[in-house]
Amino acid sequence: MSKTLDSLLYMQGGKCFFCNQVLQHVDASIEHLLAKSKGGNNARDNLVACCRTLNALFADMSLKEKMQVILNQKGTFCCPAKPNNLVELSINKPYTEVDYLAYITTNLQKRGIAKPASLVALMNVIKAILPAHLPKTAAEYYLQRLAEEEKIRLFQGRVTYLFD
Ligand SMILES: [Zn+2]
Repeated sequence: MSKTLDSLLYMQGGKCFFCNQVLQHVDASIEHLLAKSKGGNNARDNLVACCRTLNALFADMSLKEKMQVILNQKGTFCCPAKPNNLVELSINKPYTEVDYLAYITTNLQKRGIAKPASLVALMNVIKAILPAHLPKTAAEYYLQRLAEEEKIRLFQGRVTYLFD
């Protein structure tokens, strides 16, 4: 798949398909316009390279839902915020659980109505924005904490947000 990502990036002039920002290989991922879970295939016509954060947000959304997210941005499309300097600093400064929880909440808040609606999509977003050095179970842990702090409610794989 990495060869495909390379050539997609090359064809897109090294930029994200959606937000047109210069995209480093490490921040890029292959987005299936029609999700694989919706019958989308690996044909060229169905693939674009885009910011990893957006790919995580799109997850298994339908094309209609994705178009809604795009149209809601009214012209200038911004992919969800990349991990900010919290991540760059995190090696030198020990961030606490409370910091990470606030970081995740703020990131979700910034998404407005485009917050991930399914449990799987939310988990992917949390995984994408948490620094890579945290243990693999961190995403599940913080998901649980969000529920405990009544910031979200989980029901049958869907997420309800108790903040805007
Ligand atoms: Zn982008």
